[in-house]
Amino acid sequence: MRNLVRRWGLSSHGSVGNWWEWAGPAGWPGQCLLCRQWCRGRWCAACRERFAAADVWRCATCGLALPVPTHADPNTPLERKRNATTARPRCGKCLVHAPPLAHCVAALDYAFPWDHWLQALKFHARLEVLPLLGELLGGALARAHLQWPQLPPPDLVLPIPLSTERLRERGFNQSLEIARHLPTQRQYRLCAHTLVRVRHTGRQSDLPLVDRRGNLRAAFGVVRPVQGLRVALVDDVMTSGATLFEAAATLHEAGALAVQAWVVARTP
Ligand SMILES: [Zn+2]
Ligand SMILES: [Zn+2]
Repeated sequence: MRNLVRRWGLSSHGSVGNWWEWAGPAGWPGQCLLCRQWCRGRWCAACRERFAAADVWRCATCGLALPVPTHADPNTPLERKRNATTARPRCGKCLVHAPPLAHCVAALDYAFPWDHWLQALKFHARLEVLPLLGELLGGALARAHLQWPQLPPPDLVLPIPLSTERLRERGFNQSLEIARHLPTQRQYRLCAHTLVRVRHTGRQSDLPLVDRRGNLRAAFGVVRPVQGLRVALVDDVMTSGATLFEAAATLHEAGALAVQAWVVARTP
C-alpha cells in the first residue's frame, strides 16, 4: 500500500492527493496544466514547444532576452563549444553598469501564460504549478551548464526571503518553494535561513522602476556565514533586478565570493 501511495499519489486515506503530481513526469496520463488537453506528464508537447522556447539568447548578468546572433545557432554543439570559450553576451545596460551578479539564469520571459501562473502562484496559492516551474528552471540551469561549463557551481542556494509580514499574509515563500522543486539530480545546498528580510518594504510592483532599489535599501541581512562561498539566489520574477541586486550586494558585504541569480521569469 505504501508503494501505491508513493507511485500513484494516493493519500493515506485512499483518495487521490495532488493529481498534478499524480500525472507526474513518469508518463502517467493527465491534463496539460496550460491547455487542459490530455497528455502524458505535466504539460503537452504542443505547449512545451509554444511557451518554453529554449533557444532564447540572454544577457549573462541580468537574463534579459537579446537578439540571437544571426551568423549561427547558439544551440548547436559547435556554437556551444565556441561560446564556452568566448565572452558571455551582455546587454547594453550591463556593459555600462555591471550588476553585482556573476551570472544570471532566466528560464522564461515574463509573458503569457507564465505571467498568469506566477501571479496565480503568489496571490492565489496555486501550488500545482510548482513542479512545472522547477522543471523549467532546472532545464535552463542545465543549458547554462552546457553553454558555460567553466562556471563553478554554487556552494549555497538561497531563496529571496519575504518579510515576516508578507510571509504571514501569503503563507509561503514562492522563491523557496521554486527552489525546493528544482530537479534533484544536482545536489544543491538550499538554505532558507541565511539571507533574511530585516525590513518590511512596500510591494516593488507598486513603485516606478527607478525607485525600486531605494525602496530595498538595507532590506536584507545575512545571519549565517557566507564568507568565501559562492551563492545562487532564487527568485520567481526579475523585473528591474533591484531585489536581486540589493540581496547580492548584501551578500558581497558579508564576504560572499560570488553571487549568481536563478529566476523563473525575466521581464522583457
Ligand atoms: Zn498543453
Ligand atoms: Zn544585462
